[in-house]
Amino acid sequence: IMRGCNNYCSYCVVPYTRGIERSRDPETILAEVRSLFANGYREVTLLGQNVNSYRAGEVGFPELIRRVADVSPLLRVRFATSHPKDLTDEVIALFGELPNLMPALHLPVQSGSDRVLKAMNRRYTAEHYLDLVRKVREANPDVALSTDIIVGFPGETEEDFQATANLVREVGYGQVFTFIYSKREGTPAAKMEDPTPRETIQRRFDELVDIVQEGAHEQNQRFAGRVLDVLVEGTSKRDEDVLAGRSPHNVTVHAPIPAGKTIDELEGTIVKVRIDESLTWYLSGEVVDAE
Ligand code: SF4
Repeated sequence: IMRGCNNYCSYCVVPYTRGIERSRDPETILAEVRSLFANGYREVTLLGQNVNSYRAGEVGFPELIRRVADVSPLLRVRFATSHPKDLTDEVIALFGELPNLMPALHLPVQSGSDRVLKAMNRRYTAEHYLDLVRKVREANPDVALSTDIIVGFPGETEEDFQATANLVREVGYGQVFTFIYSKREGTPAAKMEDPTPRETIQRRFDELVDIVQEGAHEQNQRFAGRVLDVLVEGTSKRDEDVLAGRSPHNVTVHAPIPAGKTIDELEGTIVKVRIDESLTWYLSGEVVDAE
């Protein structure tokens, strides 16, 4: 729905390589969505580096979500990526209002330390971020949160890292994409000094991965026994008799392909799966009803 980015996070090349933000015309976007739906697509993701600053004339991001969700109640709608400084209360409220806006939000925090966030030029604090999380859960307690985190940003201290680890424990993410900081030439962060030994950064990274795994496992427990609408994407990599798909919360779900059905018939459709087991990275269950 838009290209480019105006944010200039100090570690990122996107604003230099892809230029400033440009939002696409809402009517063109809607025509594309209607045509995808008419061709059998059951899910769309509104994509941009910073979707919350979408604006084309009168139409801002909340209005665009509403119009896309209005195309059909059968169309599942997602969006990514949200910058925490730009996510508005109006967008958050939609998680409680629109049944076809999927209960999953990717909200990259990058660090739990205000000092590091400032050096990253993220322009929000950990407190502001946690406030957003609270509002999202108030709007819809079922929303699954995911995030991106950079470990080893130049000058990150043990205290900074522990602030990140604490924030991850506090939020309770379904999924966290963890990265070790890597220098991008031409960005302000590339000129920052970093006295931290490589082994320390690796140890922090490993510690964070353990916390993330524990948290994801815990989050997934809330799905046990529930029947979820799963959009079938194909078969499991390990077993071609098992279908793999996505729950509304964007969690991978596995279930044996029901007798009398083939994966070709099921792919791209939504099936109801009763979840029997919640593992760290996926849920598994039985199909109780195919479309
Ligand atoms: Fe923009 Fe994201 Fe890069 Fe920041 S990290 S400059 S928000 S693309």
